[in-house]
Amino acid sequence: QLHMRKFNNEDTITIEPWRSAAFPVIRDLMVNRNAFDQIQQAGGYVSFNCGGAPDANDIPISKEVADVAMDSATCIGCGACVAACKNGSAMLFVSAKVSQFALLPQGQVERARRARAMVRKMDELGFGNCTNTGACAAECPKNVPLSNIARLNREFIKAKFAD
Ligand code: SF4
Repeated sequence: QLHMRKFNNEDTITIEPWRSAAFPVIRDLMVNRNAFDQIQQAGGYVSFNCGGAPDANDIPISKEVADVAMDSATCIGCGACVAACKNGSAMLFVSAKVSQFALLPQGQVERARRARAMVRKMDELGFGNCTNTGACAAECPKNVPLSNIARLNREFIKAKFAD
């Protein structure tokens, strides 16, 4: 995937794959982002029947909270955050997936188990640690905010205390 913001005539453009230890290069510019699928499979779902879509004015959360959950759910799993991070961290991706459920009633039943399982899988797959540089959020095409990482850290710590 090639994303050029701006360049001048005669500029040298270097093209390289989205490098990260957890995203092995398959060929040329192609990388394998299956690691994201594995993290999603570890906990990025709701495993019970939560019924049909409720009327908008029946939802027991405020619009502000619903908007933050929706903003988190816009993550497309592109991997730009990992490639931009000097540590190869997947915290912005995982925080978006955990946040979209942690903020909604449907996500409460498996909330602690989800945070533990997704962070454990992320660590197993060789992603680096987050050192709060902010490069991930700066490059994210969906503007997933860094505040989600703070929420993921809170979710994980609460989940560990619930162990
Ligand atoms: S860069 Fe943004 S949209 Fe892409 S995987 Fe990361 S958080 Fe999701």
